[in-house]
Amino acid sequence: MHSSDCLLCQTPGGTVLWQNQQLRVIDAGDALYPGFTRVIWTAHVVEMTDLTTAEQAELLRVVLLVEQAQRAALKPDKVNLAAFGNVVPHLHWHVIPRWQDDPHFPQPVWAALPHADATAQAAQEARRTSVRPQLNAYYQALVARLDSTLLGGPA
Ligand SMILES: [Zn+2]
Repeated sequence: MHSSDCLLCQTPGGTVLWQNQQLRVIDAGDALYPGFTRVIWTAHVVEMTDLTTAEQAELLRVVLLVEQAQRAALKPDKVNLAAFGNVVPHLHWHVIPRWQDDPHFPQPVWAALPHADATAQAAQEARRTSVRPQLNAYYQALVARLDSTLLGGPA
């Protein structure tokens, strides 16, 4: 695939929070899952084991820093880490804060949306409303941690 045909070469795929030459961290802007973050490897690489050992360590380090920042700022019940890469030729990790009252819990966020009655829908909206004010603190702490841990430039 040529990069001119690739969505993730042509667009950031979300709001860039931080990046260096190897990777970027984006806010996915997910309507149902505030705080949903992705770590996207810049080059076209298919599998984790196509990276050098140092690159693997860097990518996983960033993924774990995102998880840590989510736990500290957002206090989710669980953090989901997922890597599929079946659609785009960029290794990327999804880092998703989850709550027991979120729309899919305990299913993955990609599952069919379960039926929710009015009470459950109200709880889901209340959860999102309580999470959104914490997002700026999450992003700021994450960027500060990435800046201090890795060589990189501001987004
Ligand atoms: Zn690409």
